[in-house]
Amino acid sequence: MMRKLFLFAGHGGKDPGATSGKHVESQLAIELRDLIIAELKKINVVASTDANENYLALTLRWLRGKIGERDVLIDIHWNASADPKANGTEVIVPEYATGYETSFGFAITRAMAEIGFKNRGVKPETQTARKKLAIMSVNAENILIEVCFISNASDMLLYEKSKHIIAKRLAYVIREHLYKQ
Ligand SMILES: [Zn+2]
Repeated sequence: MMRKLFLFAGHGGKDPGATSGKHVESQLAIELRDLIIAELKKINVVASTDANENYLALTLRWLRGKIGERDVLIDIHWNASADPKANGTEVIVPEYATGYETSFGFAITRAMAEIGFKNRGVKPETQTARKKLAIMSVNAENILIEVCFISNASDMLLYEKSKHIIAKRLAYVIREHLYKQ
């Protein structure tokens, strides 16, 4: 049976997340989420999402009873670094990731690498600044995409130039994985 998909924009729109120049992480995440949802629609995949003004705690409560352990929960974020040269895409998975989460994560970083983003690989939440991420506590297949670096000018140029192709490629990777056992 096809897995259900929950696709969220990180920070829920209320918390801006990282900012750099004119770029605001939460706005970028909402934009890309909506582009991916539009691409998924074209290939007959329905994504559940939450209201933009939701706090994470409300989102987590909303998910209860809706999401099962085989279902896919994707949260979209942008990375930021004090080092303006830091760049590329990475995927964060739970500390004890399933094989499914890890291979899904690599499929995402590979698709992004084909578009031109450095492949930073798949990392457990313990390698993030916060060590433990609330979104990873949901009993589901958890994928957090750090699309690229908001603090890196070339990453942002490449994102702006290729966001439609990014959305299309990610939609195909997502659909393929929703049908995987
Ligand atoms: Zn974030």
